[in-house]
Amino acid sequence: MKEVVIGGVKVTNPDKILFPDLGITKKDVVKYYADVAPLMLEYIKERPLTVIRCHGGDGECFFKRHPTNDRTLIHPIKVGKEEYFYIKSEKELIYQAQMGTIEFHVWGCRVNNIDKPDVMVFDLDPDESLNIKKLREGVVHVKEVLDELKLDSQLKTSGGKGFHITIHHEFKKSWDKFGELSNQIAKVLEIQWPNLFTTNIRKENRHGKIFVDFLRNKKGATCVAPYSLRARKGATLSMPVEWSDLNSILPDEVNIKNYMKFEKNFENY
Ligand code: ATP
Ligand code: MN
Repeated sequence: MKEVVIGGVKVTNPDKILFPDLGITKKDVVKYYADVAPLMLEYIKERPLTVIRCHGGDGECFFKRHPTNDRTLIHPIKVGKEEYFYIKSEKELIYQAQMGTIEFHVWGCRVNNIDKPDVMVFDLDPDESLNIKKLREGVVHVKEVLDELKLDSQLKTSGGKGFHITIHHEFKKSWDKFGELSNQIAKVLEIQWPNLFTTNIRKENRHGKIFVDFLRNKKGATCVAPYSLRARKGATLSMPVEWSDLNSILPDEVNIKNYMKFEKNFENY
């Protein structure tokens, strides 16, 4: 097949294999993004993006943070001296997939309010020796602490080793104050449950623990977007899930082939 059209976007090389382990083609990836676009767009529209593009099954992927001269279906935005880019429609999202984008990573702020973050993220990175039961325990404790602070939080799988807990809220704080708040929350976790959490970035201090990565909460840092595929084996994805699903889901469980099974989540996001 030479060319297909999905969501108004011409897909070139639709049969190119992007995930050789599963035989997933470029057309499958573009279709996936067309499918989740209405839900996913709510999380990524009008926010600066970093994308990971891959052009084949050879594992060669690269980050793209800045727009090039070709401004087709993207919007540039200047932040300081650098130019970044964002999208705001389903067609633009689908076009990213056409351009080879597999992963979408977002900033925690909107383009019209770059200096006022509105999404806080706690990325829980479990040490290899930590079992899933302990990881889930950690997730529950994060929620407990956030509940106490009256911060409404959402859970998603990372599509890899851990879980991400996000807080969508107008913090009305500078990036510095916002980062400090996230640091303090991480410190509370570490002090309350010292055998389970560490905020120390050094890997040798993580043994048997969860690293609470709060450093996502600074200007220019990103977190993988909800519904983004991962350019990893298994074509996993970052899936928003209910808190009540925590005990029945694994961080790398949802993928491009089974995501429809988790569709009940689609109604809530
Ligand atoms: P896992 O659960 O396997 O840790 P993850 O998405 O949380 O998956 P991390 O390595 O913990 O992966 O990174 C957290 C986030 O930091 C990513 O989602 C990504 O947005 C950002 N990030 C990580 N590495 C880089 C990098 N080299 N360049 C830019 N952003 C990065
Ligand atoms: Mn992580």
